[in-house]
Amino acid sequence: MSKSILVTGGAGFLGSHLCDRLLAEGREVVCVDNFFTGRKQNVRHHLNDIRFELIRHDITVPLYLEGVAQIYNLASPASPIHYQHNPVHTTKSSVLGAINMLGLAKRIGARILQASTSEVYGDPEVHPQSESYRGSVNPIGLRACYDEGKRCAETLFFDYWREDRVDIKVARIFNTYGPRMQPDDGRVVGNFILQALRGQDLTLYGEGTQTRSFCYVDDLVDGLVRLMNSPEGFTGPVNLGNPVEFTIRELAEAVLEITGSKSKIVRRPLPPDDPRQRRPDIALARRELDWRPRVELAEGLRKTVAYFEELLSGGKPEAGG
Ligand code: NAD
Ligand code: UDP
Repeated sequence: MSKSILVTGGAGFLGSHLCDRLLAEGREVVCVDNFFTGRKQNVRHHLNDIRFELIRHDITVPLYLEGVAQIYNLASPASPIHYQHNPVHTTKSSVLGAINMLGLAKRIGARILQASTSEVYGDPEVHPQSESYRGSVNPIGLRACYDEGKRCAETLFFDYWREDRVDIKVARIFNTYGPRMQPDDGRVVGNFILQALRGQDLTLYGEGTQTRSFCYVDDLVDGLVRLMNSPEGFTGPVNLGNPVEFTIRELAEAVLEITGSKSKIVRRPLPPDDPRQRRPDIALARRELDWRPRVELAEGLRKTVAYFEELLSGGKPEAGG
């Protein structure tokens, strides 16, 4: 019997694209999700596929499965609005979720990959961020439930590896965008595109001089799959993200140009602890995974705009690019 691949958070933005990729490669996929931020709609096109199984489950509770070769642990809200909605549950999803999924991996001998985040670097004092940088996180701030939860999950991964020889992989994912981002999650790419398409003002927080590096979802998923299938012993953590850095104002201007919108850019207060600069050093991923992003911002934005246009027109965008 061929073993399946478990994707926690598989009905979310990244998880659903990962399920697409794994199924396209002929794998059997078990998708586990509590539908907090994910939606059945994201995996609707797989529901009649016998190789695809969808389980409603919260990973803060142990999960008993057999016959799983690989676990991609993506279950966690990812946007500030969502992870701050119930911060204690956010920390639990990272910490208890990691303990439960690592326990499962240990019991059944599965390889397990953690979707960690650039937020482990906090508001970084080193630029660009390489994996050796230990970060600058405010442990009592509004973002801490996410940042510290993800940091603790990394700690757990490495302790299970050292103590129990669990076969781990840790990816530190930087800002990723694309079709199936949730329209209401407050993240900047979705916000700006929707505002532009609706003819509303684009809300630029602060001066708009803060920077981010935006990775298109297909590139990111490719990095995750390469990491999962990298030689045993290569644990990471490894940065996965696009090293091309933009200010948020530049992003707003790019969205206006691509949508042809007449919307204006207006200033709004900068949220607390908002990182000023963020750009991954991806030398390790290039060397160990032979990976680098291929999709440029303009191309990725065009595909994402097309998805949101269809959503706004009342359509149900299927695979979404
Ligand atoms: P998302 O919110 O679209 O997906 C997360 C999924 O996890 C959702 O389907 C949600 O319902 C599910 N979930 C949340 N808590 C759960 C729980 N306790 N039990 C079961 N399911 C649960 O977010 P995303 O952007 O797809 O992010 C996926 C993963 O990648 C997250 O772990 C996130 O921290 C990480 N990540 C994403 C980005 C990004 O830019 N998208 C950047 C860094 C890290
Ligand atoms: N941002 C903005 N306008 C918005 C939403 C976000 O200017 O409508 C800014 C936000 O302050 C941050 C950047 O865009 O500096 C990225 O925000 P997002 O929430 O997408 O991701 P994160 O801050 O977690 O990297």
